[in-house]
Amino acid sequence: MAKAPSDPRPHHPLSPSNWTKWVKCPGFEKLRDEDEASRARLERGNRAHRMLEAALTGEPVQDSGEDACDLWEQAEWAAGEIMRSAPCNLRVEVQLKMPDYAPKYFGYADVTADGHVWDLKTGYFDDGYRAQLAGYALAVMDFEMRSELTLHLLYSECQRHEEWTLTYVEAAAIARDVLAARAAAVEKREGLVAGEICGRCALAGTCPALAAAAAPAVEAAVELMPAEDVPHLPAGAGPLTSESVTSDPLAAGRFLFAFKAMEDIAGRAEAFVRAELLDGRPVPGFELQNGSSPSYVPAEEVVRWASSIGADRIITAYGGMPVASFKKLYAQVFPDKEFPPAITHQGKGFKRLCRVKPRKSKKAKALPLSLQLSEPTNIHNPTCPATILQEKPRTLSRCNPASTFS
Ligand code: SF4
Repeated sequence: MAKAPSDPRPHHPLSPSNWTKWVKCPGFEKLRDEDEASRARLERGNRAHRMLEAALTGEPVQDSGEDACDLWEQAEWAAGEIMRSAPCNLRVEVQLKMPDYAPKYFGYADVTADGHVWDLKTGYFDDGYRAQLAGYALAVMDFEMRSELTLHLLYSECQRHEEWTLTYVEAAAIARDVLAARAAAVEKREGLVAGEICGRCALAGTCPALAAAAAPAVEAAVELMPAEDVPHLPAGAGPLTSESVTSDPLAAGRFLFAFKAMEDIAGRAEAFVRAELLDGRPVPGFELQNGSSPSYVPAEEVVRWASSIGADRIITAYGGMPVASFKKLYAQVFPDKEFPPAITHQGKGFKRLCRVKPRKSKKAKALPLSLQLSEPTNIHNPTCPATILQEKPRTLSRCNPASTFS
């Protein structure tokens, strides 16, 4: 196993960097042993931050990865967005401390200047980041005796810049709400909210909220499964719980059959949702987001050039395609043949379908605070240049249920 990249900026357990998850579920606990993909994302994020620092300070950066030039281009874009605000007293990697705040927390703001805080994000849009920045803003405003601050989220891969203003009172209210919900979740297991982050939560195996949320979905999957795939259950098979599916072989097998059936159904549902969104029809709770550069060559131009460049070269350069879309094409050309499941792999898509939630407004309440900003690095402009190796995950295949459970 590859060695986990170390985070060069260790955070307090209550640091605002956790608030991104806690506004979704205050009980979320980060997995200790992260998978290869998570480690690769963390490492890439660290490199992107080093590049942004170099782009702002003019210090050279050592990075020999294959995607170094992409990261550098993104860092230059982010630096340009920061400089466009013509900030004074620009500082990078600013550690924020709140020693007298109960409970204590500290974190690191990527870049600050008079009246501004910027945070670089290399992944996809997440409205939870606004809570994280509220925590940073609170610390900065308290230290600088300001009543409001302008916050910036820089999504470097899709070159999206979000900017908004937050008052001290609003930031304090967000901090209080997040930390109070966290305390209730840890002390009393209250306020847990199952959702897509459960898959990355260390408590998923024993979480009552997740078990309750998963039960109807599992039941629905069993209902939707073809009759021949429905397991023959022995008498006395009990209800599925998140605990039993990770400790009892019979329960685990029943759950996985249902889950696999749900995967197939979810793939078809996702293809439908994607088509609706591409046609401009809204689907509540979802949107399509670009995962890379916003400029692109339209499909009709690719088709026009394919005969000259070579379809194989174009497809190899472009990468794979969503399984549901490929299955659809396969079925059109080979209507009598079964789709070969062994050709599918897990990995990144080109356009990501994201669940989105309407933003809630927060009520403002005052909170007494005191804090310190420590050792900021002063700035000013740069050079170029690193890689992510991704291991292909092993796949789990379905087999005849009768042979397993009868
Ligand atoms: S598994 Fe439970 S505690 Fe973890 S994120 Fe999901 S609902 Fe929250």
